[in-house]
Amino acid sequence: MPARILDGTKIASDIRSEVAAEVKTMTSAGVRPGLAVVLAGHNPASEIYVRGKVKACEEVGIYSEQHTPAESATTSELLALIEDLNRRDEIDGILVQLPLPRQVDSKQVLMAVDPAKDVDGFHPVNVGFLSTQRPGLVPCTPAGVIEILKRSNIAIAGQEAVVVGRSDIVGKPAAMLLLNANATVTVCHSKTHDLPAVCRRADILVAAIGRAGMITRDFVKPGATVIDVGMNKVTDAAEFQRLFAGNLRREEAFRTKGSTLAGDVHPEVGEIAGALTPVPGGVGPLTIAMLMYNTVKAAKMRRGNGVGELSRA
Ligand code: NDP
Repeated sequence: MPARILDGTKIASDIRSEVAAEVKTMTSAGVRPGLAVVLAGHNPASEIYVRGKVKACEEVGIYSEQHTPAESATTSELLALIEDLNRRDEIDGILVQLPLPRQVDSKQVLMAVDPAKDVDGFHPVNVGFLSTQRPGLVPCTPAGVIEILKRSNIAIAGQEAVVVGRSDIVGKPAAMLLLNANATVTVCHSKTHDLPAVCRRADILVAAIGRAGMITRDFVKPGATVIDVGMNKVTDAAEFQRLFAGNLRREEAFRTKGSTLAGDVHPEVGEIAGALTPVPGGVGPLTIAMLMYNTVKAAKMRRGNGVGELSRA
């Protein structure tokens, strides 16, 4: 039986509606959540991401502003900007779009963000809160993975979860969130021996690798839930054929655009998994929805209000 497709676009839209309702209540009480986005230099991909984030703010009613330091900006200029944003009460969230220009010390800039406004959840203080199960700001993409599982009524507690990838922004926080939700968690990486065998133990398999279609059917236990975080631009025709041969819609798009977006999970996994997130339309849309959620959460936490979970569908 083909896998149940977990519709990230629908789940993200539900979260955005819930966030919009919260923003409305807060705004009428005189507290409109605000997000500042720092986009330094000219990176076309970053510009597209930032546009999406600003548009999402508009849709849910969050105040947003963009800061666009020049490509030549120095570390101290960016630090001064961050300090100013840290001080301003109407700014609840600060998002520094990466990558920063080459001459800038990115770590120093990220460390300068007030942890209470760190809506990306990258600051070590928030990493510590996550690992000790204290309230804090959780990285958006891994938080989105958990929302997909919970809102799709997929049990986490007691399940074997395998996360492939150990980056600070996806793999590690995803593993921590699954552990906090009482899964038995294994984290894999490029040095893991016999990766397919380890992955086959998983009831929940999270792929956050950055290699198109690497997770094939021999990595998957029949019936497992597979969450595909990967976003890979495929431009090579042979690679395209390996992944999408016979998919007429993709072939047409590939011919006209010269590229397609592929996850880390090979489409053949859809024949064996119990549930699967598509790419596009799976985890991707959750990332911005959780950024909106984090901005509201930051606004509430900074004012000492109970954080509260979003109501579950
Ligand atoms: P990184 O490159 O930072 O991390 C990749 C991880 O995969 C590393 O831990 C690496 O292991 C591991 N890895 C690489 N090759 C192998 C292999 N052959 N076998 C086992 N493990 C391997 O990537 P990110 O975590 O930033 O992103 C992962 C993917 O998720 C990317 O495709 C990215 O585009 C996507 N992404 C999607 C988002 C969304 O909104 N949907 C948001 C963020 C990322 P090691 O540590 O040993 O090097």
